[in-house]
Amino acid sequence: MELILLGPPGAGKGTQSKLLEARYGVAQISTGDMLRAEVKAGSPIGQEAKKIMDAGGLVSDDLIIRMIGERISRPECENGFILDGFPRTVPQAEALDKLLHETKVDLDAVIELKVDEVVLVERISGRFTCAKCGTGYHDTFKQPKISGVCDICGSHEFTRRADDKAETVHARLEAYNAQTAPILPYYRAKHRLFSVDGMAEMDEVERQIEAVLREVGVPEPTASA
Ligand code: ADP
Ligand code: ADP
Ligand code: ZN
Repeated sequence: MELILLGPPGAGKGTQSKLLEARYGVAQISTGDMLRAEVKAGSPIGQEAKKIMDAGGLVSDDLIIRMIGERISRPECENGFILDGFPRTVPQAEALDKLLHETKVDLDAVIELKVDEVVLVERISGRFTCAKCGTGYHDTFKQPKISGVCDICGSHEFTRRADDKAETVHARLEAYNAQTAPILPYYRAKHRLFSVDGMAEMDEVERQIEAVLREVGVPEPTASA
C-alpha cells in the first residue's frame, strides 16, 4: 500500500498513520520526525533545519527530497509506506512522482484530512508524545489511560514539541495555506484524491480512511498485521 496523508499541522496525520502502520504493516514516513531526529543528533541537516522549524517555516525542497529518496528505497518500505507530512510543496509532489515512476510504484490514494483552523490550534497546543516510543497524546482529547504512564510502552517520560506554541502555530498554518494547499489541485488532477472529515473522533476518522482504502482496492490486513 502506498498512501499519502495530507492536511494542516494538527489534522491528525501522525495519529492516523501510526494506526494504519500497526494495522496494515506498512512503514510510516514522517519527514517531521526525521527532521527532529536530525536536530536531536546535531547533524549538519539538523543544524540547517532547526532555525526554520522553530520559526514555523518549511525546510528546503532539496534537502527534503534527498531525505525521502533515501528513505523510500530502504527494505522496510518493501510492503509500502504512508507518507505523513510529505509532500508539502508542488516541487516536492513533482519530485515524488518522478521517484515513484522510476521505481514503478503507484500511489493507491492521497487522503486529505479536513479540520477547521480553530480546532487545529486547540489540537496543537494540547499535543504531547511519549519520549520513548513516540505515541501521541492530547491534554483534552487523548490522555494516557493511567495518568503519566504511556499506554503502549509504560514509559513515564513525555515531550512537547518546541514548535507547538501559539506564536509558531500561526506561521505554520500560513505556510500550509500558502505552500502546501496548492498541491491539492495537483493531486486532484493527477491521482486519486479523497477528503476525509478530520473533525470526527479518532476512530471514526480511522473508519473513513479504511473505507477509502477498500474503495481503491487495498487488500484487508491479515489478523496478524
Ligand atoms: P505537523 O505534524 O504539525 O504537521 P511535522 O512534524 O510534519 O508537523 O513538521 C514539523 C516541521 O518540520 C514543519 O513545520 C517544517 O518546518 C518541517 N517539515 C516537515 N516536513 C517537511 C516537508 N515535507 N517540507 C518542508 N519542511 C518540512
Ligand atoms: P498531525 O500529525 O497532523 O500534526 P497529530 O496526529 O499529531 O496531527 O494530532 C494533533 C493532536 O490532536 C494530537 O495531540 C492528537 O492526539 C490529537 N488528535 C488527533 N486526531 C484527533 C481527533 N480526531 N480528535 C481529537 N484529537 C485528535
Ligand atoms: Zn511509549
